[in-house]
Amino acid sequence: MKSVEIVSPAGNLEKLKFAVKFGADNVYFGGNEFNLRVQADNFTTEEIKEGIAYCKERGVKTTFLLNSYLHEGDLPSASRYIQKIADFGFDAVMVSDPGMMILLKENGLKCEFHLSTQMNVLNHLSVKFWMEAGFHRIVLAREASVDEIRKIKEYTGAEIEVFAHGALCIAYSGRCLLSRYLSGRDANQGDCAQPCRWRYSLIEEKRPGSYLDIIEHARGTEILSSKDLCIIDRLEEYIDAGVDAFKIEGRMKSLYHCANTTRIYKYASKIAGTDEFQKMLPFFIEELDLISHRPYTNDLFNEFGNLGFTGVPYIKKVLFSGYRLEGDESAKEIKLKTFNPIYREDLLDGIFPIRDSILDSSYRVVNIRDESGNLIDMARPGSICVIEFDKPVYGDAIFRKRLDDKR
Ligand code: SF4
Repeated sequence: MKSVEIVSPAGNLEKLKFAVKFGADNVYFGGNEFNLRVQADNFTTEEIKEGIAYCKERGVKTTFLLNSYLHEGDLPSASRYIQKIADFGFDAVMVSDPGMMILLKENGLKCEFHLSTQMNVLNHLSVKFWMEAGFHRIVLAREASVDEIRKIKEYTGAEIEVFAHGALCIAYSGRCLLSRYLSGRDANQGDCAQPCRWRYSLIEEKRPGSYLDIIEHARGTEILSSKDLCIIDRLEEYIDAGVDAFKIEGRMKSLYHCANTTRIYKYASKIAGTDEFQKMLPFFIEELDLISHRPYTNDLFNEFGNLGFTGVPYIKKVLFSGYRLEGDESAKEIKLKTFNPIYREDLLDGIFPIRDSILDSSYRVVNIRDESGNLIDMARPGSICVIEFDKPVYGDAIFRKRLDDKR
């Protein structure tokens, strides 16, 4: 099948590097202003430059997010910000607001322009309109069906990107006032508090303070919260329909989430259309189940009937233990940056970028030393330590611990 791009979320510089190591063809990230994730660990100017240089050296593209909506009063500061970043050398800028596009052109930004999913493009006439306005790639609304994608591609030849994996909104492609109304934080300015995932009760107007539970399942209800998107089992259909790039959602999610989804979608797209894809599908599905997620759906594009929420609200089967900090030679003793506690005798999964084979394996922790070389029983989250495993670790490793491990 034709080759497609995997576009991965880079919530910070650390995640950007792991997205690249684990197979991203393109990474997207935002600076401190004008992108739709003001709560993410956004990049400083120096980090933007370092991120671009890191990607360029490895042949990976960068997409910079300037996709918030501008109020009248934002225009001068947006213009100043564009001037500051104009020469950084992004491959593309992601835009929602046509006003932003005008400012980018006025300030001479030389790169591709990608249209954000927030513009809700669902048909070929709309694609033509945006192409004539100067957009090179269109990120379709999440609601576009496979048939619609196929027709849009056929009628326009445009470069098409679609969301493949991650959280969904109950609002139409993210256009939502819930957060602004309930918490004063505007989703359309990148500050969504995700009130669709909060728990709600019923109150009868004459009995204030008497909250009646709405019970959807044993742990309460999330009546407004949708399932997460995962189209791995339909990836070939989407490639066949003409998709050029698959986007993974989740700049706010962990480095482990970013790396593991990236490597799975990258490898799956590489072998799509071959017998190996079907053989590997159970592995892909299992790995995507081992990142924290809500129950998955693969059919948002076609059927809205399956958005109902049943079962446990959040599925979390592993803890992200940490990653190898330095070196890629084979060694039993390696330096790790930790994200959750690691104890002596722990059995951890090591996962690796997939090139021609799966190198994943389990590793027993033999010894842990702190940065001063002292033996310790537990590595604290957020620390740097040296861990001796029972066998050599190869290359860039990420470690996780299974929560129900019976091994
Ligand atoms: S509140 Fe929920 S539905 Fe609305 S924008 Fe935020 S995540 Fe999307």
